[in-house]
This record gives sequence, structure tokens and C-alpha cells, in this order.
Amino acid sequence: MGRLSGKRALVTAAGQGIGKASALALAQEGAKVFATDINEEALAGVSHPNIETFMLDARDDASVKAAVERAAPDVLFNCAGFVHHGSVLDATDDEWDFAFDLNVRSMFRTMRAALPGMLERGGGSIINMSSACSSIIGAPNRFIYGTTKAAVIGMTKSVAVEYITKGIRCNCICPGTVESPSWHDRVKALGEELGSYDAALKQFVSRQPMGRVATAEEIAALVVYLAGDESGFTTGQPHVIDGGWSG
Ligand code: NAD
Repeated sequence: MGRLSGKRALVTAAGQGIGKASALALAQEGAKVFATDINEEALAGVSHPNIETFMLDARDDASVKAAVERAAPDVLFNCAGFVHHGSVLDATDDEWDFAFDLNVRSMFRTMRAALPGMLERGGGSIINMSSACSSIIGAPNRFIYGTTKAAVIGMTKSVAVEYITKGIRCNCICPGTVESPSWHDRVKALGEELGSYDAALKQFVSRQPMGRVATAEEIAALVVYLAGDESGFTTGQPHVIDGGWSG
């Protein structure tokens, strides 16, 4: 019997990185997990007896509705998100629209689909993926990204206050830099700009006062806590887990 036995959890972007680590951690704690991602191949590597995987594009409203019907989640972890690189002067309208659609509107879609079932069943825990780079702290070349992740905090607070008396909690997670496949791609890209992978790695790590980035498992532990009843008195909060970056 794990801490999450009897709970059903729907996770977006569970094919790799924080989403994958969280799906596995939720399953290890006894939840029945529906691990979804737009990349079906990546899902093949997300394996546990408590995990069912299926393809889900978090930008597709009809598929989101079908996924919520299938999962009937008590726990919804909205992890899907994309990091745009650039300043306000680099950003295009299309990039802005894409990032808002994936990083913000996808959570609107899943919450809108999942809340009626949670209300019917008398409770639920929604966890939205924000970032320390948001309204918590600014970072260079994260104009669109930081703006979308600040919106996630506002959206989280709004949903939390609306359902505070209905047994439904809504929190968000604000990590610092976390080791993940897309982070490795970002280090590589910066390395090409700076002329050296090691220089890029140094730049990323130097903004983390602990001298290292987080592991996806460290973030997954917070997801498990927020999913379960032991976090029953927290709602509407951005949970910063950034190795002291914003401290
Ligand atoms: P990642 O970026 O390596 O992987 C992202 C996953 O999202 C991939 O499996 C991809 O297939 C999936 N995906 C992309 N578009 C999708 C869509 N339309 N529908 C469903 N899935 C889709 O993973 P990560 O770095 O762990 O990031 C996960 C989340 O955590 C993101 O929201 C990111 O902004 C946030 N975050 C990451 C860091 C970090 O440093 N890695 C820090 C703070 C916040």
C-alpha cells in the first residue's frame, strides 16, 4: 500500500524528463497512472505495472476530453511545456502563440475537462508545471517562457480559490534548472553559440547556487507530495524548488 493507493492520476508530457519521473514516482506510491505524451515512442520507456500509456497532444481539445474520460483522474499533473529561447526583441507572434497554447492553454483545456468529474467525486488535486523563471525570477532569453510560466501561477491561484470548499486543490511547481533531455538540447545549442559545450554547461550550472542542477526525481517527489492527502492544507501556491536560485 503506497501513499497514493486508490488514486487515479493523469500526467501530460510523461514521455521524458520531469513528466516521466513523476509518472513513475506516482505509480510507485500506488496510484493508477495514465501517462500521456505527444511522442508515442517515448512512452514505450515509461513502464510500471500501475502505468497505462497513451498518446495525447495537450493542444488538442477533443483528445484531452477523451483522455480525461478514460482516466477519470483524482490527480491531474499538467507537465507539458516548451522553452522558447530569446528576448522580447527576438520573439515572434507565432512563437508567442505557440508557447501560450502549449504552456498555458493546454492546462485550461485539461482542467476544464477534469474538474466536473472531480466535483462529482468530491475532490481532486491539480498540479500545474510553472517554473522559477516566471513571476518568481527573470532569466535572460526567457521572455516568452517566463511570461507563460507566470500565467500558470495566476491560473493556478484562480482555480484554487474557486474550488477551495469543494475538496479540490490546485498548486503549481516552480523548479530551477532540471536535468532532462530538452535541457541537454538547450546546453548543446548554447554551446554552439559560445563555441564550447563546457562553457554552456558552466553558465547553466553557475546560476544554481548549489553548483548543480536538479534531478527530475527531486521534482517528482514534490509532485507525489502535492498529489497526496498529506499536502491537504496547501492550495493556490507556487511551490518553488530551485536549489536557492531565487532565494
Ligand atoms: P522535456 O522538455 O525534456 O520533455 C517535454 C515532453 O513534452 C516531451 O516528452 C514531449 O514529447 C512532450 N510534449 C511536447 N509537446 C507536447 C504536447 N503538445 N502534448 C503533450 N506532450 C508534449 O521535459 P522537462 O525539461 O522535464 O520539462 C517538463 C516541464 O517542466 C515543462 O513544462 C518545462 O517548462 C518545465 N520545467 C522544466 C525545467 C527544466 O530545467 N528542465 C525547469 C522548470 C520547468
